[in-house]
Amino acid sequence: MKLNQDIVKILDKALDEQPIGREEALTLMGIDLLSREMYSLCAAANELSRRHFENLGEVYLQIGLDSAPCPSNCEFCSFGANHGIFKEVIEYPIENIIQAAKLGEDQGANGIYLMTTARYPFDKFIKVAKAVKEAVLPDLPLVANIADFNIDRAKELASIGFKAIYHAVRLNEGRGTKLPVKQRIQTIEAAKKEGIKIHFCVEPVGPEHTPGELVDLMFLGKELGATFSGAMRRVCVPGTPAAEKGTITWWNLARTVAVCRLVMGNTVLGHCTHEPNLPSLLAGANLLWAEVGTNPRDDKPNTEASRGWDVLRCQEILVEAGYEVRSGPAITALGSSVQELEYNQ
Ligand code: SF4
Repeated sequence: MKLNQDIVKILDKALDEQPIGREEALTLMGIDLLSREMYSLCAAANELSRRHFENLGEVYLQIGLDSAPCPSNCEFCSFGANHGIFKEVIEYPIENIIQAAKLGEDQGANGIYLMTTARYPFDKFIKVAKAVKEAVLPDLPLVANIADFNIDRAKELASIGFKAIYHAVRLNEGRGTKLPVKQRIQTIEAAKKEGIKIHFCVEPVGPEHTPGELVDLMFLGKELGATFSGAMRRVCVPGTPAAEKGTITWWNLARTVAVCRLVMGNTVLGHCTHEPNLPSLLAGANLLWAEVGTNPRDDKPNTEASRGWDVLRCQEILVEAGYEVRSGPAITALGSSVQELEYNQ
């Protein structure tokens, strides 16, 4: 079979565990979605993941704690105060959150994410997190997906047992959101100082984002020492400013997932995609989120009755993709820290 030899050279380099550079990643992002090279790209990313992650997939359960107008006004998020989708504050009672966490644990979740809008009081978050921690097995990792914070709060998160945070610099950050890029990175650095692992993802990908923007975030995640990266496509929530820009196909997302997988190389312990989808699981992704409670991609307050998948369904699609499901704590929350890498190598 004839293949573009420039592409083949880059794929061979990645499979030989040599870091690929920004220009090479951009070349891969230019691959035609209906070409043979696209399947070769997915094959290379898939091979790296099966090799590095011992063919194991992970599922986190994310619990959204509140639905409320959020002052950060991210262009893609149903909670943005200016979008007028959620007009009142609803905070889920601790009992419901614990019940959801215990169900996730029983179903085999490898870790629990606790997610809030940027307006959720930090002290209250700590109280809820302590209650969840006491309710689940001691080695089930907790991950915080919350607003930006400083070093004092990072210390507090670490002291009550948070192993990781999900914190990304999102596409169009600071322009389509009210959150400066610098502030997002300062939060990540504060967490790292306290030994908290960083979960990062190229998101939320829409048709308007250029290959350069996507590749920049891949390398930023690598530079920041993320324990996993990956890619999530944007959902067009009606009423959000970004909705009119449309969405991309799963196959298009798979290209970004695969290129990101090759960029991250042997520095990561997993590779995510969201929402769960088979093309990306065959292009290097091995990590999924189940979701209950609130969800920035949903206009319903209980996403488990709408967009959110449960843990069992996430495990099923991992198996469909030929992965075994990890039993026990997520390595992406507990694994040893990844090597520090130079940006733009
Ligand atoms: S993504 Fe987070 S910070 Fe942005 S508007 Fe939604 S809840 Fe607020």
